[in-house]
This record gives sequence, structure tokens and C-alpha cells, in this order.
Amino acid sequence: MSAPSLLDKRLSVHKFGGTSLGSAERFAAVADLLLEMQGEQSVLPVVVVSAMSGATNQLIAGARAAAEGADQRYWQVKASLLERHLQVVSELLQRPAERLQVSGWVEDRLHDLERLYRSIAVLGEVTARGLDAVSSFGELLSSHILAAALRERGLRAQAISAAELIVTDDRFGSARPLWRETQQQVQQRLRPLLEQGILPVVTGYLAATRQGAITTLGRGGSDYSAALLGAALPASEVCIWSDVDGILTADPNLVPEASTLGELTYEDAAALAYFGADVLHPKTIRPVAAAGIPLRLLNSFNPSHPGTLVWAPARPGRSEQAAKDRRIAIISSNGLALIRLGSSDDSWNPLLASRALQCLGASGLDVPMFSQSFSEHSLNLVVRQQDQEHCLKLLEEAFGSELAGKGEDANGFHLDVRLEVATVSVVGIPRGRDDGLIARAFTALGRQGTRVIAVAQSSGESSVSFCIPAEQLAATVRGLHTDLGLAVPDASVLRHA
Ligand code: ASP
Ligand code: MG
Repeated sequence: MSAPSLLDKRLSVHKFGGTSLGSAERFAAVADLLLEMQGEQSVLPVVVVSAMSGATNQLIAGARAAAEGADQRYWQVKASLLERHLQVVSELLQRPAERLQVSGWVEDRLHDLERLYRSIAVLGEVTARGLDAVSSFGELLSSHILAAALRERGLRAQAISAAELIVTDDRFGSARPLWRETQQQVQQRLRPLLEQGILPVVTGYLAATRQGAITTLGRGGSDYSAALLGAALPASEVCIWSDVDGILTADPNLVPEASTLGELTYEDAAALAYFGADVLHPKTIRPVAAAGIPLRLLNSFNPSHPGTLVWAPARPGRSEQAAKDRRIAIISSNGLALIRLGSSDDSWNPLLASRALQCLGASGLDVPMFSQSFSEHSLNLVVRQQDQEHCLKLLEEAFGSELAGKGEDANGFHLDVRLEVATVSVVGIPRGRDDGLIARAFTALGRQGTRVIAVAQSSGESSVSFCIPAEQLAATVRGLHTDLGLAVPDASVLRHA
């Protein structure tokens, strides 16, 4: 019997996140999972990888250190990335020839990185374009390492840089894909490989402009890369493998009894994704929804779990109860800092808030939540802890004259930071009548004695986000999960064929 041709096979895109590739052991587990998939004659996987967990943060911290002239700090970043990746290579790869070849390649790339850092140090600044070039190294390294592990398992795997596939505009730090060109590149470059029986291992997160300059799709953007490739091929499904069992009612590390939302519509999943980039990058839904491709969220640490299936809305046969069923999830993020900018009198106005947000946005910094307090004449900005120093520096520059204000300008302008905050969002997908979700969330927080530092609420009353002290996060999420009645497994409603 002849081998099935490409046309008979189901193409499926599988994206593995940073924790799924966090160590040699995890790389091996992913490679074994793919080997098993490849064994299924009808499936042809295309792999997309993130950088090893923490690598992108380190790369960015190194670039900022270089811009400040902190030679020792960027050198340490390079040394630690080199050591970590070489250790994975030596533990993972058994064949001396492959191990030697991949180690040499890793060393060469880290040498390139050091050269980039050195040029940033000479210039004394890092541009958004330079930062993208630096940030892309993590995915380059992990794709080569995984491809080698797959070759050792007898598969014809090949690492491919998405710079050859995904074409974007030049908004460095958060580039937008140019769809037609991307589709054309994917067809021309990826299809022939698949036809030859080669398993492509593509870098997530990065892309390139028409002129070939490296761009990135925004932090956490590897999910988006997978969706773009899935739509461009097109694939029959896109699977996002992480370290949790799909989209859950709460973070299972905080709430062990949290349950998986078995099925979601594209629309509902997009609403949830916007509140927690860790679960699923919010831009991921659009390309797959437009192409009608099902998206699965799976756990590489627990591959037999069915996870969450995200697909088209109204399906025939969906029970009335299921259609009415409310989906509520608690999405929490840690490792955040709160920056407050304000004046001590009424000279504060919303234009100052827009200036602050614009100045951070222009430098590619995410502000996952912000709120304005008119009575306190201040703006609360929630940023990632690792971005805190950089944000303060940018705001000090942008509001230099106000902060140094004297005489008429002496409005008591202040800029301060509170470390260690967390955000908790309660997101409900409204189905019919309003059941007072927001009021219930506030009551639960009151019962827990949670100190609410800032609040942001959707006008449709379907979601509310709180900024709270980090040390109260676990108790707050647990309290909300119980008080909102989410501990009841909804599998019976969701897991129907
Ligand atoms: N490595 C990138 C990041 O940390 C992209 C991703 O993991 O999706 O943001
Ligand atoms: Mg992610």
C-alpha cells in the first residue's frame, strides 16, 4: 500500500509554550508526543515553538542593561542563556555528532547576541527594532533544539524561522501581519516541505518586514503565530499546548478544584483571552475564527486531558441549557507593579493620562490595567515588575517639567511605585438576564477582606478587574471561586458530542 499523500492527511499546527520547553526533560516529552502523533498515519503536524520559559524576559533585560552601559549585566544574561541551552542540548541529544553540531550552532547564536548587545551599548540606546532583533533569539534556539531531538527520534524535522513565513508591517514590538503575503510565503515555503514529508519546527513570536527586518508580534505572541500559520496553510486544527488543562474557571495552581471549560465559542474565548494573556494570546482567535478552524487548548504535562475546544458558534443539537449556560472564569496575573502618577491638586486632567499611556505604548510596554482616580488626581498603571524600572524612566522623562515643577507649576506632581500587586478579573459571558455578577464579586472580596487598590469594570457589566496586593491573591481567587459557585464541575453541560 502506498503512503498516504499530503492531500489525504490532516494538517494540524501544534504550538508549545515556554514551560512545555522549560528543560531537557520537557523537550524530550514534547518530542515523544510529536513522535506519537506522527505515528498516526492520517496526521501531519506543523510545530510552532516559544522560547524556553523566562528566556525572552532575560533577553530584553540584557538589551536594557546594554543601553545603560551595564556591560557586566548583559554579559551575564548571555552567559546564563548559553549555559542553560547548552545544558539542555547535552542532556537531550544522545548522538555525539548531532550534539556537537547543535551546541556549536547555539554558541554561534549567542555570540551574535553578544555582538548585538555590544552595539546597543555603543549607541547607548535600544530602539524598538533592536529590541525585536534581540527578543527573537529565544525562539530561534528552541526551534533548533527541538528539531534535533525529533531527528534523533527518526523524524525528518527541520527548524524554520518564521521570518521566512510571516510578513508584517514595521511596528516593531507589536507588528501586524500582512495577510496575503504571509499566506503566499507559507504556501511557497512550508507546503513543499510538508509534501516531502519534512516536519517543520517554526519559531513562534517573530516575523519579518518585507525588507527582512526582524519584528515580533507582541509578548506572548507565539499563540498568534500558530493561528496565522494554521489559517495560511490551512490546517484542520490548531493546538496550543501549555502547562494547564485548557481554559479553566481559575488558575489551578491557586484553586485545585478549578474546572476546565470544555467548549467555548470563538467569541467567548476571545472575551476570556483579553483578560489573561497567559492562557491564550488575545489575537489568536481572529485568524482561526475567520478560517473556521477549531482551536484546542491542551496540557503538554497531561496530554490525555481533552482540554478546551474553541470553535464555531451555534451548532445544531446544542441543548437549550448549554446555550443559556453562563461561562464565568477568574483570570489572575501576578508579578505586577503599580505605578501612580498624579498631582496633589486639581491640575490633573485626562490628557495627562493619555500622555502617560502613549509614552509607554510607543515604547512597546504593556499596561495590562489602568484606572484613573479623579478624587485623588492620579492615574494608576499596572505594569509587569520587570518593566517597572523602564516605565519609571520613561515617565520621568515625559513628565520631567511637571515633576520638577516650581512656582506656577508646583502642583505637587508625584510618581511613585508600589511593588508586588496582582490583578484578578472576573469575566462572565452574559447569557440573557443579568445576575448581578459584578455585585457578587464585590461582596466576595468584602467577605475576604481583600484590599482593592484599583478597579476597572466593563460597561456591559460582564467583567470587572481588581488590582490587589499580591499577598492577597491566592485567598482572593479561592474566595471568589467558591462564592461565585464555580466549584461545580460543568463537564456535563460542556462535554457533549
Ligand atoms: N517568547 C515570547 C514571550 O515570552 C513569545 C511567547 O512565549 O509566546 O513573550
Ligand atoms: Mg503564552
